[in-house]
Amino acid sequence: MKISARHYETGEPIQVTIHGKTISRIDPVWPETDISDLPWIAPGFFDLQINGHMGKWFANPELTPEDVIEISEQHFTFGITRLCPTLITSSHESLVAGFTAIRQACEQEPWLDEMVPGCHLEGPYLSGEDGPRGAHPIEHIRPADWKEFETLQEVSGNRICLVTIAPEVEGAIDFIKRAVDSGVVIAIGHTAAMPEQIEEAIEAGATLSTHLGNGAHGTIRRHPNYIWSQLGSSKLYASLITDTHHIPPEFVRTVIKTKTPLRTIITCDASGWAGCKPGIYGDENTSVEVLENGPIVVAGQRQLLAGSGQMTDTCVAEAIDMAGLTIAEGIHMATLNPSKLLGVEEIRLKRGSRADLMLFKYSGSAESFRVETTLLAGEVRFGAIESS
Ligand SMILES: [Zn+2]
Repeated sequence: MKISARHYETGEPIQVTIHGKTISRIDPVWPETDISDLPWIAPGFFDLQINGHMGKWFANPELTPEDVIEISEQHFTFGITRLCPTLITSSHESLVAGFTAIRQACEQEPWLDEMVPGCHLEGPYLSGEDGPRGAHPIEHIRPADWKEFETLQEVSGNRICLVTIAPEVEGAIDFIKRAVDSGVVIAIGHTAAMPEQIEEAIEAGATLSTHLGNGAHGTIRRHPNYIWSQLGSSKLYASLITDTHHIPPEFVRTVIKTKTPLRTIITCDASGWAGCKPGIYGDENTSVEVLENGPIVVAGQRQLLAGSGQMTDTCVAEAIDMAGLTIAEGIHMATLNPSKLLGVEEIRLKRGSRADLMLFKYSGSAESFRVETTLLAGEVRFGAIESS
């Protein structure tokens, strides 16, 4: 398969040859037509935090392997070629059911195993305070429990690669040390920790702040506080939800300037309600409203967000606008940086790399960003390739 497109880093027209699952050649081309007619080409997006789609959640006691396959497949539309299915705070039974279904789905479908480098457990060992807790259900928030985690890791087939935890929770520091020793990456999030507790978590091996600036109190002490402690640490990557609703542009710019584009990760943190039409969803425990213009809120008010309704492609395009980034800087925050954080294969637009690619149109503004084609390991999974 040969694809003519513009290289996302240089803007130069290239021809990418794919043989099997791999990029076998990249050659310069001299098209006779205007090169702005060509789509751009880049590695596919990698999102560390996807909770579900179209009303289906990964954290669901009735989740089936077919659900996992259906949820994951829908993400090719957004240029996503790798994702960490994310299970949020819920009962032990729900988490066991969710991770079991994900393992079965990955064992059943080799393409899914390639799309899922690992799973993200966000909670249940989080702050119980309103604000930091976000939309995580209070009745399932609990102290860190290594024994429980070992069970979840076992049923997942050793797929849990990232855990978001609040350092102040009972047993958290010991949990972090054990998890890091076992190869799991630890993120700090949904926390109301004091600076010393954040420091202890970093000492114990935490390397990421999960959606910094969200999962926080509406009003906090000017200093010290848990946002400064994480923002100022050179040992923590920061992930940001740049959907334009979760954090304002000045916060996005500040974090990217402080952490640099090399240590910032963009996630959409898409809710299981993402993709649903506007309306009220959920049950008596967690009722949410999908609003007309995209955001998803806890029903009955407009301040507390309940995950994002935008996907990674939109969040990257918006981050480029908000922080004045190059296309390559923006794309690396949702391709290369998550791979580096987790220590998994880095997909590059280079000979020999696995052909996880997306073709897109972009003319310099977030609204113009549109994914046209997505390939996973050399297979077209969304859109089509014109033969060239
Ligand atoms: Zn969260």
